[in-house]
Amino acid sequence: MRRLIPFLALAAAHLASPCHAALRAQANTTPSPADLIVTNARVYTVDEAHPLAEAFAVRGGRVAFVGDARGAMALRGPQTRVVDLGGKTVIPGMVDAHGHVSGLGTALAVVDLTGASSYDEIIGRVVAKSKSVAAGTWITGRGWDQNRWGNTAFPTHDKLTAALPNNPVALTRVDGHALLANKKAMDAAGLSAATKDPSGGHIERAADGAPSGVFVDNAQALVQRVVPNPTREEQKKQIQSAIAEAQKWGLTGVHDAGEGQDVLDIFEELGKAGQLNFRLYAMISGGRDESTLLDKWFARGPQSGLYGGMLWVRSIKLYADGALGSRGAALLDPYTDDAKNSGLILTPPDYIKAVAVKALKTGFQVNTHAIGDRGNRVVLDLYEAALKEVPTADHRFRVEHAQIVDHADIPRFVTLGVIPSMQASHQTSDMYWAGTRLGVARLNGAYAWRSFIDAGVIVPNGSDFPVEQVNPLISFHAAFTRQDADNWPPAGWYPDQRMTRAEALKSITLWPAFAAFQEKEMGSLTIGKYADFVVLDQDLMRVAPELILKTRVLSTWVGGKTVYEAK
Ligand SMILES: [Zn+2]
Repeated sequence: MRRLIPFLALAAAHLASPCHAALRAQANTTPSPADLIVTNARVYTVDEAHPLAEAFAVRGGRVAFVGDARGAMALRGPQTRVVDLGGKTVIPGMVDAHGHVSGLGTALAVVDLTGASSYDEIIGRVVAKSKSVAAGTWITGRGWDQNRWGNTAFPTHDKLTAALPNNPVALTRVDGHALLANKKAMDAAGLSAATKDPSGGHIERAADGAPSGVFVDNAQALVQRVVPNPTREEQKKQIQSAIAEAQKWGLTGVHDAGEGQDVLDIFEELGKAGQLNFRLYAMISGGRDESTLLDKWFARGPQSGLYGGMLWVRSIKLYADGALGSRGAALLDPYTDDAKNSGLILTPPDYIKAVAVKALKTGFQVNTHAIGDRGNRVVLDLYEAALKEVPTADHRFRVEHAQIVDHADIPRFVTLGVIPSMQASHQTSDMYWAGTRLGVARLNGAYAWRSFIDAGVIVPNGSDFPVEQVNPLISFHAAFTRQDADNWPPAGWYPDQRMTRAEALKSITLWPAFAAFQEKEMGSLTIGKYADFVVLDQDLMRVAPELILKTRVLSTWVGGKTVYEAK
């Protein structure tokens, strides 16, 4: 009972309306004026206590008032900036719960192959790039997807080699799980018929056994190890351009799904220099090759809200399996279109469990990539075993993607307290061919966010950029329509699995905050939280679903400061 009293007092304080709080503050002393007042807006706060407001005030980078215009204007002082939005819509800053910041930086710097509808179009884009670089210089690209081409088999290198005989070329597939190289690149890497498949990887081969150009999962490293790395200055510029790109789409933060020490160092360098204006929840790449890096972080301990609330390093990214497009996702039964293949477990399960145990002991979160139903089951089993060894009430371990999950495993997310971190845009990108890979029966447990929510877990939403486009409204729209950008299929793909629109808004604001232990700091426009918000040109909660993707971000604000403004 004694323990209940402070809790009740807290709850009562939380329930007190902002008007009461403002009045009380006025009665005692005059409240210090706000730095910013935003008024004449339609504000979706994502705070269930006050879902809608017309104005809010910001002081010291945090929300100081939410409610009506009169209440907000009461905090006006001589220095206060007042922004009248003329009825425009405001939502909390959107956060992508799974993106790749350095990957986006690279994607913005290399040949963009996304959206190409044929192999010839891919080659054309690479040839165009080759005209601006010297012979012998490496050309890298990203974003090809043979599922968009007439012939959906993996390509072979011959056509690419014929068009580009003088430059080594390495082109990463859209999902990052396969790489296409030309002859010059394979020669530079010393690859031949004698090269064996590495563990967790697969080399596509011609009839004579020679590599035919495509390298799947861990086999990509055979080529990647000879591609020259960007300099540190180039890398830093790439990261800054990725952040700017994200802000343009209304993102105020991202859960960066796995970075090495080099990138974490750049984040810290930018933070120390006061150049971070974006909330980075960075996961440490924790694969077997990075175990010394992990030990360093276990010794340093979890880091939260560094550099004025811009950087969190308190989670570890692991990979259980591959991806569906390249048939690397680990399935319980073989692929419907490849009867001898049931996918790959990329990381030894013992290693995943050992990392999970150490993480629980040191206060880190573990976020493991699992796409197939076998991959998901393996991760749940390992998390369960680790939690048995180190019982922890509030671990918030996550499965990244949780795309194909056996129905029997969905309740285990609830009992174990594991969060499925999903990307609604993967569903609308994969729906055209997922049935070919999986067969109809398995589609019932695919991209099943309604089943997860109904079972009692939250579903933070993301894009997995640069796998998908950065625009978070694509996943927002897909989450409650299960339709692509052309509103296909008309009734939605497996429409029983739709979220509500209100849930979809939470999935890009409050739920990512919870999945990152940040729900007291962000995720809603609530007094005391960071004043991160986005101004939109239309009301995305009331506009017809087919108009959602026409929404324009007018400005993006982090801690009450503009970080992006449309021209
Ligand atoms: Zn990812």
